[in-house]
Amino acid sequence: MLQSDVAMKPSHRTRFAPSPTGFLHLGHVVSACHARDMAGPAGEFLIRIEDIDRTRCRPAFEQATLEDLDWLGIRTGLPIRRQSDHLADYRATLDALRARGLVYPCTCTRTDVMRHGCETAPDGSMVYPGICRDPAHRVEDRPPVWRLDMGRALDLVGEPGWLEEGSGRVASRAAAFGDVVLGRRDSGVSYHLCVTHDDAQQGIDLVTRGMDLFAATSVHRVLQRLCGWPEPAYAHHQLVCDADGRKLSKRDGAAGIRTLRETGVDPQTILTDARALYSGGYVNG
Ligand code: GLU
Ligand code: ZN
Repeated sequence: MLQSDVAMKPSHRTRFAPSPTGFLHLGHVVSACHARDMAGPAGEFLIRIEDIDRTRCRPAFEQATLEDLDWLGIRTGLPIRRQSDHLADYRATLDALRARGLVYPCTCTRTDVMRHGCETAPDGSMVYPGICRDPAHRVEDRPPVWRLDMGRALDLVGEPGWLEEGSGRVASRAAAFGDVVLGRRDSGVSYHLCVTHDDAQQGIDLVTRGMDLFAATSVHRVLQRLCGWPEPAYAHHQLVCDADGRKLSKRDGAAGIRTLRETGVDPQTILTDARALYSGGYVNG
């Protein structure tokens, strides 16, 4: 490649952020390749281990993930961040939101939410019906989850929308998520909180990930505005689906990189397949 081509390609700081809940499969490789390619030849590509869910994540899966990525030649020259090493930072962010009255404790059980909730959020979860916004409904000695008061948040920052690579500006729909959980009962933190914290902390200017997280971007944009973090651009890629059209999961053994390795497939073939699969992405309209 000519030096001038490198200079002309936009460069980004991107990341691949797997959760080590199983072995690496083709769906992950699609995400990783997409992230690395979108960084551009002069950009930076980071790897981040998202392991805050202590019941589902295992150190053995983290090690296997990093080994398989290395075998594929997907590497970063930069330090690998592990979220479980930074819990105090996420909790401090939550404390700051609490001090501003933007989160409230909720002691509802799953049954309470099911009984009173009737709306479904864009990501398929149940919209919290707001019961504990009234402190009288909180149960004293039950440890709470901490919820974002979405109404107050939107009063402050509006629906920010975002720039989707190749499609232009996308309108966000954070209101449709309602009061999402920012502090879980077990870890005290949540995916939405940690992912936005880290993207800002690590200077990620293009967030690349699968279409399954497209809807969640609305919530992330609100958090970024509330916390005064920079606005990254986004590039959501198509998902690898099984024969029934469902997102590939760790149960789909055939696409497991370990299995492919054992059958003698070479890394280059897997990378070529992965590249062919991520194209498409989100199309506006
Ligand atoms: N850790 C998330 C996952 O494995 C990805 C988070 C993200 O890219 O925003 O699904
Ligand atoms: Zn509640």
